[in-house]
Amino acid sequence: MNKRVCIFCGANTGNSSEIIQQALVLCDLLIAAGYDLVYGGGEIGLMGLCANRFIASGKAVIGIRPQKLITDENSHSGLTELIVVETMSDRKNKMIELSDVFIALPGGTGTLDEIIETYTLHKIGFIDKPSGVLNTEGYYEGLRILLDKMEDKGFLKTTAKNKLIVADTPEALMTKMNLV
Ligand code: AMP
Repeated sequence: MNKRVCIFCGANTGNSSEIIQQALVLCDLLIAAGYDLVYGGGEIGLMGLCANRFIASGKAVIGIRPQKLITDENSHSGLTELIVVETMSDRKNKMIELSDVFIALPGGTGTLDEIIETYTLHKIGFIDKPSGVLNTEGYYEGLRILLDKMEDKGFLKTTAKNKLIVADTPEALMTKMNLV
């Protein structure tokens, strides 16, 4: 079975061409490294663009969606497999079960929720699967500052903080996460 990367990212596309371009560069590097994709299953936003990239390369793409989202909007029509779940929590659990590694690209609160969950599970030892974020255009600088503050004030150990891998470029993220 191929390795699988779970990508969390915006259901919107955003307004930065640099963010879109760097997201696609990272997809290409993951594809070249042999990864299949697990993601939210939508056809819209940055997540749809990433899914298109994996599908065009012939990689398997698994979408995981709660029934409510399927009712509200179209799932991506090119998925290798669509897994339908009941709740958003079920969806995250399925994503975690099926994936080897988690990456957050720029996105909104849904993306933040997802990557914080996988990072926290890794940090406290429930899973042995790493989480990383692509900090294109300093997108996750605010998160980095918050983690530093948690460390500074004694709420987060340095070793635990460092389990969230942050990199400014796709190439650096691949290297820091040992994905190449
Ligand atoms: P957000 O970052 O708030 O745009 O939410 C995007 C993230 O939450 C993705 O990684 C998805 O897993 C999930 N998500 C939120 N909205 C949708 C949607 N309409 N379709 C599929 N997944 C979604």
